[in-house]
Amino acid sequence: MAAAKAKTTPARTPLVAGNWKMYKTESDAEEYIQALLPRVAAVSGVDVAICVPFTDLRAMVDSARGSRVEVYAQNMHHEPEGAFTGEVSAPMLSELDVRGVVLGHSERRQLFGESDKALALKVPVALDAGLQPILCVGETEQERDGEDTERKLRQQIKDDLGNVPDERLADVVIAYEPIWAIGTGRVATPEQAQEAIAFIRALVGDRSAEAAQRVRILYGGSVKPENAAELLALPDVDGALVGGASLQADAFAQIVSAATP
Ligand code: PEP
Repeated sequence: MAAAKAKTTPARTPLVAGNWKMYKTESDAEEYIQALLPRVAAVSGVDVAICVPFTDLRAMVDSARGSRVEVYAQNMHHEPEGAFTGEVSAPMLSELDVRGVVLGHSERRQLFGESDKALALKVPVALDAGLQPILCVGETEQERDGEDTERKLRQQIKDDLGNVPDERLADVVIAYEPIWAIGTGRVATPEQAQEAIAFIRALVGDRSAEAAQRVRILYGGSVKPENAAELLALPDVDGALVGGASLQADAFAQIVSAATP
């Protein structure tokens, strides 16, 4: 089965990113990072990130400094400043030494009206600010059942990366997150994950063959210690975006270990 196949193109460093969503106060975050750091200290060859609420950013950046854990935000406005109550900008994140930002998570798209038009503005702004964007894409259950997955992915990749020049495409991390698998415990099969991620890589390849080789594409959707190794071994899967299972340091560290080449 493809899942067991050894990878032959090693140029892409896997990334395992935990998405805490709206969980953990600053003191919870502090406790967590102290538990996580020793558990991932010996890991090598994997990038590790935690995407935390805005209120946890400063404490997490300070506590993770000098470790292999990078701290990301979960959203960002495209303007550097302005009358946008409740929003946070790229320069605000950069000044805190935040390393990256999740953009277009399905919860932001579905619950807060995040549009492809907004993402087309945000992704290049994040890149220009030196922030690593993780752009989330994925289909609903209805779209999958209606064999509409490829159309949806094609449209999201085209629109959301529309303002990123070809030579910077590989600097974006893409997370394929089928919406029906997020927070549901219903994980995509290895075949579904590989097929969709290979399709996304081919879409990037339509713009730049070189970028398609280099771009990292993660799988997200009910990744847990028990299923991580099989998903992470897939030839086109370059890591995972992990929601629920990232809330426990031990479970998250096990997923990080599963990504170790
Ligand atoms: C996510 O929040 O991006 C996610 C994939 O959540 P979960 O792992 O809980 O499905």
